Amino acid sequence: MYSQMSSVIRTALLVVDVQNDFCAGGALAVPQGDRVVDPINRLLAASAAARVAIFATRDWHPLGSSHFMGRGGQWPVHCVADTPGAAFHPLLRLPDATAVVSKGQALDSDGYSAFDGTLPAGETLAAALDQRNVDHLTVCGLATDYCVRASVLDARTGGLGVSVVREAIAAVNLKPGDETGALEEMRAAGAALVSLDEALALVGAGA
Ligand SMILES: [Zn+2]
Repeated sequence: MYSQMSSVIRTALLVVDVQNDFCAGGALAVPQGDRVVDPINRLLAASAAARVAIFATRDWHPLGSSHFMGRGGQWPVHCVADTPGAAFHPLLRLPDATAVVSKGQALDSDGYSAFDGTLPAGETLAAALDQRNVDHLTVCGLATDYCVRASVLDARTGGLGVSVVREAIAAVNLKPGDETGALEEMRAAGAALVSLDEALALVGAGA
């Protein structure tokens, strides 16, 4: 069934928040966050070769964000716009054609979902996907239980098909079971949890 679908769907690759502050040594490091970089680089290369559209989200917070501890939020200060912590992981090989989606830019925005973000020209992710006739997202990145989860659920609400790449995501697990719960929630919403090989075949089929 899956291979039949792949011939008719038009996917885009969504890389969520592979930023220094979410990786080893960062202000809000996701346990084993760095391990997503290699599989994501393979997905990026396959997507670029097949001319599949690539979107990379980033947390891009103002220093005074209500998302931070001491200002009403639950997180240490992280991914402040234009700081090294907000930069993409240095080993992440984003092709030139990657569309960067910045989120959490307003003082009162958590920006968990890619669909809360905007591209450099100001359009929303939903508008950019629509413009490219994308009807499916191949999702990878950080963190499974926050921004990946929120982005996947919003994509499903918006009617998009979603494949989440298991080897290319990692969870915060603030509470034990958060990862499992997020995976279950995404699956219940109709997202497919796929292997890296399945995802490579999907994006390799082209746009
Ligand atoms: Zn954040």
